[in-house]
Amino acid sequence: MFDRASVVTPGGVNSPVRAFRAVGGTPRFMVSGTGPYLTDADGREYVDLVCSWGPMILGHSHPEVIAAVQEAVSRGTSFGTPGEGEVALAEEIVARIEPVEQVRLVSSGTEATMSAIRLARGFTGRAKVVKFAGCYHGHVDALLAAAGSGVATFGLPDTPGVTGATAGDTVVLPYNDLDAVRAAFAAHPGEIACVITEASPGNMGVVPPADGFNAGLKELCAANGALYISDEVMTGFRTSKAGWYGVDGVRPDLMTFGKVMGGGFPAAAFGGRGDVMAHLAPAGPVYQAGTLSGNPIATAAGLAQLRLLDDAAYAKIDAVSAELRALVGDALTKEGVAHTVSAASNMFSVFFTDRPVKNYDDAKKQDVFRFTAFFHSMLEQGVYLPPSAFESWFVSTAHDERAIERIAAALPAAARAASEATA
Ligand code: PLP
Repeated sequence: MFDRASVVTPGGVNSPVRAFRAVGGTPRFMVSGTGPYLTDADGREYVDLVCSWGPMILGHSHPEVIAAVQEAVSRGTSFGTPGEGEVALAEEIVARIEPVEQVRLVSSGTEATMSAIRLARGFTGRAKVVKFAGCYHGHVDALLAAAGSGVATFGLPDTPGVTGATAGDTVVLPYNDLDAVRAAFAAHPGEIACVITEASPGNMGVVPPADGFNAGLKELCAANGALYISDEVMTGFRTSKAGWYGVDGVRPDLMTFGKVMGGGFPAAAFGGRGDVMAHLAPAGPVYQAGTLSGNPIATAAGLAQLRLLDDAAYAKIDAVSAELRALVGDALTKEGVAHTVSAASNMFSVFFTDRPVKNYDDAKKQDVFRFTAFFHSMLEQGVYLPPSAFESWFVSTAHDERAIERIAAALPAAARAASEATA
């Protein structure tokens, strides 16, 4: 299948990190998923710790999500008119996340961040955008400077195709460094439209904000007439019922969402302050649109998933994450492998270094070759980890004791492989 794919698709994949280039080997082609398990084209079953990079927070093929999709499909697939499903999903988002007074639905996280930045520029009449090295906000031209995720994996600081003019209004700063943000506002008075940050970064591996960092960003933005945009595409509806906002309570001007809110379908959103959102077309002058925005199947799936995500569900996910973190840490310690298990609520990743990881430069100093050995040993034993050392691991409500036992059984050999690996 990979050979076939490589003929008709660049690199054989539709999103770079799927190609396994960071770890080597051939990507697995998955044909079905149930609960915490994926089955590949050769019939091998894996415990899934990627969960489609976050969306599958209830596990695969959750019966109530599937039923909602089937019911919606039976009524038609797209109308290009307003519909009730999109209103209900918007109401659910607004009810969960207090700073979101209004929300616009789109089809991908990339579209959400791209549109939020356009709106911030339109609202403030300013051009410059501050972002942080290692934060990934999708493949928006202006934000593909020192981005994490697939870009971190490939070690590309930038990408051909993004012009100097586009990137020229992007100011890239080290993460967790408020002095750098202060200096940027001082260097560009009246020019910065917004600061965009991952609410708690997961695209350089999991690197949570230092105490007071997000609050400091908000304060500096307010003092300088810029908007504070919190990108919750990854953390939204995952790290708590109200995402990372539910954890740190820092009130953004605009927020972006994706992944979990689509229930495995392409649905994403941006929203926030009513006076800012009022600048969006057709209410205001800032243009933004989409043929499939608010698609009835995607909104039905997302709504069904969100309605199942109650306090008990988050308690379960948090507990699974804590158990796995302890198991992985113990296994690596037993084999004397230097590591740091870094967590933000139930998102976590393992850095193969014992030095503290506070930003992207720290993350890049880990022994990636040890992760590679660890990854392949887990894969051979039927545990599917993200194929890159710079990604979050994701768990779901479906990860039960049987799934955890299978992971636990695979860890000793994987830890040994990491310990024996050479650069
Ligand atoms: N923002 C963050 C924080 C993300 O993690 C991602 C994707 O991983 C995006 C934006 C882009 O979302 P999408 O891949 O849906 O375009």
